Amino acid sequence: MWDYLIKGVRTIDPKNHIDDDWDIAIENGKVAEVAPDLPVGNARQTSEFNAMIAQPGIIDSHLHLGINPYGFKMEALAGVTTCLDMAGETDFILENSRKDGCGINFAILQALLPGKNIASNDPSADEINAFIDKVLASGAYGVKILGGHFPLTPEASARVVEICNQRNVYVAWHAGTTTDGSNINGMRQAVELAADNFLHLAHINAYCRGAIKPVEEETLEAINLLKNHPNIVSESYLSARNGTKLNVDQNGIPLSGVTRNCLKRFGFSVDTKGIEEAIKQGYLSVILEENGLSTLADRKDSLELFRQSHGDVSASFDRVNPFLPRAWIASAKRDNGQFVVDAISTDGGCIPRNVILESGISLIKLGALSASEFAAKTSLIPAQMLSLANKGHLSTGADADITVYDPVTQKAVATFVGGTPVMLNGKVICKEGCVIAYPNSEAFLTQGNFAHQCVEANLSSLKQLHA
Ligand SMILES: [Zn+2]
Repeated sequence: MWDYLIKGVRTIDPKNHIDDDWDIAIENGKVAEVAPDLPVGNARQTSEFNAMIAQPGIIDSHLHLGINPYGFKMEALAGVTTCLDMAGETDFILENSRKDGCGINFAILQALLPGKNIASNDPSADEINAFIDKVLASGAYGVKILGGHFPLTPEASARVVEICNQRNVYVAWHAGTTTDGSNINGMRQAVELAADNFLHLAHINAYCRGAIKPVEEETLEAINLLKNHPNIVSESYLSARNGTKLNVDQNGIPLSGVTRNCLKRFGFSVDTKGIEEAIKQGYLSVILEENGLSTLADRKDSLELFRQSHGDVSASFDRVNPFLPRAWIASAKRDNGQFVVDAISTDGGCIPRNVILESGISLIKLGALSASEFAAKTSLIPAQMLSLANKGHLSTGADADITVYDPVTQKAVATFVGGTPVMLNGKVICKEGCVIAYPNSEAFLTQGNFAHQCVEANLSSLKQLHA
């Protein structure tokens, strides 16, 4: 007898070449059978999702859970079943999963933060090894170089990548060092400094905003860099938005470089007046917390919140990420038919831009991706990136992680994690999620009574992902 039966869907499973109106049976948290017309009488519970699409659960390969407590809920609502946090703090996220988890799995790459968890921006090999020892034993899955925000020297960045490869530890990099920024120059530098090591290079689209060269030249260079360096694994996101802060100094000048750049780029004065004008014209929205979610305030409320708080608010500029690189990078292919950029992520979570489905389905409708390719980029390949052999597909015995979405409204309708429904029609359950951690964390997570699964990365096979 099955525990659960999903009927009425078009089921897409790229690994098993399924794209048909088949049902999915679940038993003991695993996929029991995927086939047409499975009998309702064999299941304790059945859900009909007529005209919906079911695919292996979405694995968001880049998001942030450490900014506020709302990331899990926002991801769950967006149809995500497993996700990779790209900064930490590991202890905050672990505790938060216990309080505000929604039953979705998560792994954490803990960022190196000079002056905070490492002494300087030029840590020695010994310091890097000590950092890795510490984070891997306290719940993290790997390490993040947060070059765009907290840059290390080029030499130290290269050391981190090299040491992680020697130790078989997952390492990701938001390009940028003390010499190059988070742009196409920084991306080129990161690719060169990685040499022939494995590296997860974060959000490729973010280096193609036209900061150095015309957008189309930067995008072409980014694609060629990845084609020529198959040891680099990557993702990109689909939102036009960013996240920033609006604090200003006593002269009304924004403290955040991101805010200053955006104001300049859109032709506003770089001061309080420019911020207000950007809000009035719809370029800039204040992020507010409402019903346990981060959302974007409308123009009137944004203006009021900005004034009331004297700028001490989080906010988001629209149209920061141009359309061309987002669409091109999401769909570009290698000569062997594989995608240039392996996965589609959100870079969201706590930041309200969790548009994998909304924008991803638009790409399907535009003919840039098939629904099966979309499932590969949002589940099968991210599962390979995280060495999760039981996820990313619907083979018999695989984890019953499933996302059901409505191709018309472009929203998630239901998600199942390990066979348990965690989101249904916009309602999420409250349940601690399972942290996917490096094996060194076993004792720490058992002692702390955290739901966990320890997984060893496999960097040598990841380096062969594009072979
Ligand atoms: Zn990010």
